[in-house]
Amino acid sequence: MSGEIYTKEMQHIQQLKKKISFLEQENKRLKAEKNCREMVEELKTAAFENSSEGMVILDEKGVILEVNYAIKDIFHIHKKDMVGRNLTHYLPQEYRDDLRNWISLQSFEKDAKTAVLSMANPARDSFSEIHISRITKYPYFLAVLKDVTYLRNLERRQRKDAALFHDFFTEALDGIVLWKENGEIVSANKAALAIFESSLEEMKRKKISDYVYKKDDSYIHIIKSLCSKNSHRDELMFLMPNGQKKLLEFTTKLHSVEGLHMSIFRNITERYNMELELLDSKSMFETIFEEVFDGVILWDRDYNISDINKAALRMLQKDKESLLGLNLIDYLPEGKSIGEEIKPKLLSLREEGQNRGIYTASFNGDDWTQLEFRNKYNIYSGFSITALRDITENAILEEQIRKSSTLHVIGELAAGIAHEIRNPMTALKGFIQLLESSNDSEKHPMYFTVIKSELSRIETIINEFLLLSKPQNVKFVKADLQQIMNETLDLLNAQAVLYNVQFTRNYTNSLTEMFCEPNQLKKVFINIVKNAIEVLEVGGEIKTSIKSTPEYFLITIEDNGNGMSKEKLAKLGEPFYTTKEKGTGLGLMVSFKIIKEHAGKIEVESEEGEGTKFHIYLPRKKQ
Ligand code: ADP
Ligand code: MG
Repeated sequence: MSGEIYTKEMQHIQQLKKKISFLEQENKRLKAEKNCREMVEELKTAAFENSSEGMVILDEKGVILEVNYAIKDIFHIHKKDMVGRNLTHYLPQEYRDDLRNWISLQSFEKDAKTAVLSMANPARDSFSEIHISRITKYPYFLAVLKDVTYLRNLERRQRKDAALFHDFFTEALDGIVLWKENGEIVSANKAALAIFESSLEEMKRKKISDYVYKKDDSYIHIIKSLCSKNSHRDELMFLMPNGQKKLLEFTTKLHSVEGLHMSIFRNITERYNMELELLDSKSMFETIFEEVFDGVILWDRDYNISDINKAALRMLQKDKESLLGLNLIDYLPEGKSIGEEIKPKLLSLREEGQNRGIYTASFNGDDWTQLEFRNKYNIYSGFSITALRDITENAILEEQIRKSSTLHVIGELAAGIAHEIRNPMTALKGFIQLLESSNDSEKHPMYFTVIKSELSRIETIINEFLLLSKPQNVKFVKADLQQIMNETLDLLNAQAVLYNVQFTRNYTNSLTEMFCEPNQLKKVFINIVKNAIEVLEVGGEIKTSIKSTPEYFLITIEDNGNGMSKEKLAKLGEPFYTTKEKGTGLGLMVSFKIIKEHAGKIEVESEEGEGTKFHIYLPRKKQ
C-alpha cells in the first residue's frame, strides 16, 4: 500500500513541478510582456513628447489635459500655463464654435474622425492647422498642430502671382498672344485683339504665322533664331484680316507660360511713320541749314567744327572737307585790328552764353572780309553755333557814302571858290599877255613860259572844280555813245602817238544812242583814257568797247599798264588823290560825279602788273 501511495505522491509531485515550471514560464512571459508593454507605453510617451508637431490632449469639453514640448515652439507659452485652459482660447473667434460643435458631436461617435481647423497666431503672424481626432475608447481627444505658415504664404503668393499674371495679361497695353507648339493661338488679350483687328474666336482659329505679311528672308531669320535661342525680339510687317498693314514690334518666348509660347506685340506703325516724318523734317532742317544766306558753323565743346554750311564756306573761302574736325579757334585767321577779333569772344562764350561782334580778316591772304558774327553756346547737346554775315559790301557802301558826302561838301565849296579865283585869274592872264608882248619879255623868256603853264594848270583845276558844283545848264540830249567815244579818242590821238600807245575799238552793232549830256560824258572818257595813257609805257594798248543790253550800255576802257593795289583802288575817286607829280587828283572824282548824274555807275577792276579796266554802266532810261 505504501508503495502505491508513494507512487501516487510521486505522480502528484511531478504534476505540481510541471505546473510550477509552467507557471514560472507563464510568469516570465507575462513579465516580458509587461516589460514590452511598458516599453511601448514609454516609447509612446517619448513619441508624444518629442514629436516635432505640437500635440494636445483635450477632454470632451476642450480643456487641455496634456501638451508636448513642440507646442511651446508653436505658441511660445509654457506647458503649465496651457494645461487646464480651453483650446478654444487659442483659436480665432470664428473657429471657436466649430471646435465646440465638433467635439460634442464626436463624443457620441465610436470611430476616430479628423477635423481640420485653422488657427492664427496673431503674435507671430503665423498659421497653424489643427487635426483633432477622438482617442478610441476614452472620452479624450488628441489635437495635432501643424505650422502651415510657410505653405499658406506660398499658396498666397501663388494666388497673387496668378492674379497678377491675369491682370497683366488682360490689362496690358501690349498685345499678348499665347500659342501652342503647332502655332495655334490659345489665348489673346484685349490689346492683341485690337492690334490684330480680330475677335478672340477668329484668333483661336488661326496661327500667328497666318498674320505675317510676307514670309521673306527676315521671317525665316526670326524662325531660325527662335529655334536656336528660344526667344526673339524683332519688328515685322503683319497683315490684318481687314487688309490693314501694321508694323509690329514683338518679343516671343518659347515655353514661357504653362508650356505655352508667348508673343508680346506692340504696334509701331505710328512710331515708324513718326520716324519717317522726323527724317523728313531732318532733311528739311539740313536743307535750311545749307541754304540760308547766313554762314553757320556748328562746333562741339572742344571748338572742333562738326558742320558748316555753304554760305560759311563761301565766306571762309574753304571747302567743307578741309574744315570738318578742325579746331575753330586755331583755324580762324587773326582779325585785322584789335576789336575785330572773334577768338576772345569764342573763348568767353561759355560764361556769356551768347555774344556778337564784327570780325575783319583775310581768308585768302589778300583782300579783307568783314563779318558780323553771333555766337551761341550749347544750343543742343554740347554743340554751339557761330553765325556769320558778310558785311564787306556794306562796308564798301559805307565807304562810298563817306566819299560822296565829302564830294558833296567840296562841290558846294568849289562853286564859290572857283568863281572867286577865276575872276582875278582873267585879269592876271590879260596882264601877263600884255607884258609878254612888251619888250622886256626877251630878258626873261623862261619866266613867261613858267607863269603861263602854271596859270593854265590853275585854270584846269578851277574848271574841274566848277564841274563839281551843280551843273548850271545841263541839257540832256539824244547823243550817240560811239560818236562821243570816237571824238574822245581822236582828241587824244596825238598824245597817244607820243606815248606809243595803240587804241582799239570794239563797238556793238546796235544803236548806242541815249539821253545824256554829251560834253560831260566826253569829259569822263577823256579823263579815263588820259589816265590810261599816262600809266602806259612803250607798247601800251588801250581797248575801248561799247556793249548794249536792253537795260543799259556798258562802256569799257581797258589798259595793260601796271594796275593798282587794292589799297590804291579803294582810294580812287577821293578828291586830291593822285600818284602823279603833276596830277590834280580830281579827274576821277569828277568822272564819278558825272556818271552818277546819269544814274549810272563806274566799276574798276585792276590787277597789279596786269592792267586796269574801267566799266561804265549807263542806264538806257529816258531822263
Ligand atoms: P590824276 O590823274 O590827276 O592823278 P585822277 O583822279 O585822274 O587824278 O586819278 C587818280 C589816280 O588814280 C592817279 O594818280 C593814278 O594813281 C590812279 N589811276 C587812275 N587811272 C589809272 C589807271 N588806268 N591805271 C593805274 N592807275 C590809275
Ligand atoms: Mg587824271
